[in-house]
Amino acid sequence: MRSVFIHSHEVAKFDFGLGHPYKPERAIKAYELCRRYGVMDRPWMKTMAPKPIDTGLLSLFHDEEYLRLLREASTGKVTLDMLAHGIGSEDNPILPGIYEWSLMTAGATYIGMRLIVEGKADVVFNPLGGFHHARRDYAEGFCYVNDVAIAIADVMKSGLKVAFIDIDAHHCNGVQDAFYEEDRALVVSLHETGETLYPGTGRVEEIGGGKGVGYNINIPLAEGTDDEVFVYAFQEVVPPVIRAFEPDLVVAEIGADTLRSDPLTDLMLTNNAYQEVVKAIKGLSQPLLALGGGGYDIYRTARCWTLAWSILNEVEPEDEFAGVVGGMMFGPEMEVSSLYDVPRPTTGRVKEKAFARAKEAVEFIKSKVFPLHGIKR
Ligand SMILES: [Zn+2]
Repeated sequence: MRSVFIHSHEVAKFDFGLGHPYKPERAIKAYELCRRYGVMDRPWMKTMAPKPIDTGLLSLFHDEEYLRLLREASTGKVTLDMLAHGIGSEDNPILPGIYEWSLMTAGATYIGMRLIVEGKADVVFNPLGGFHHARRDYAEGFCYVNDVAIAIADVMKSGLKVAFIDIDAHHCNGVQDAFYEEDRALVVSLHETGETLYPGTGRVEEIGGGKGVGYNINIPLAEGTDDEVFVYAFQEVVPPVIRAFEPDLVVAEIGADTLRSDPLTDLMLTNNAYQEVVKAIKGLSQPLLALGGGGYDIYRTARCWTLAWSILNEVEPEDEFAGVVGGMMFGPEMEVSSLYDVPRPTTGRVKEKAFARAKEAVEFIKSKVFPLHGIKR
């Protein structure tokens, strides 16, 4: 196995401003935690710094006028046109250097994809990737440039089939848009239902259009979805469709905002389900490009990514207390005393509702989508 962890302190230090929930520095925390737990130093592992993406590739997904406005916003200029494209909103502030920064994060994902496609790596993790909400001509959900859509669109030009699996708590609206009518890109997303969470899309009925019918799969989940419900929904749907689709490679967005402690979402996972699902994705055994995505409880997100990197490399973190440095636990000591969460299922009505909701989605997919792939239920 050859694996690459894409990392740059400089890129991860980019600041969205005080009070903004998105903290790119989570990537530094994850990188450091991986090192402390001894899962970053095996002979088959490499750390690689990102390079900015060739700007010519941006138009694989984005609109020229939108890119022009983003370049302007990056110099500190503010115009009304920008707001009409989501640039300058509360979620997507006008930040000096945002264009150049987005070129770096899109470049990180692009490099990861090239390493996979050229057979130079079997597994790549880019914690600073997964801007799945960026639209063709609209910035939203903390995303300006859609690294996912660009990298996938690029490899599709050479005829490769790509499966995108998104376990971030939010629906991947930008990526869904990009490949809605495609049958060579399979997009599967598990997320909190749009009835209670941004971006509001990702209904189970959104199964693709034109020749892409059946190649877009959404599993919306209710508030209070816990480990058991999430793993159930994943296992019932994702492995069978990926096997039937036979992709050349898998891109996975492994956001950690499904955790019960996440301040932005209402799902109730612990990192036990997170690990199980990452293991299952790894077990699908295609070359894999993993992208960070969301996660707004930054310490627990760093823990999830450390566990994910360990799973992707089939190594065990050294020991429970390797994270202790100079007597200090990593993160808020009281809360984060080990890499592993204690299982915490939801109960009663909340659990029943979440399970019923997941079953409904699974049944819909089995009856409407499975037959399109020749999968027996
Ligand atoms: Zn998210």
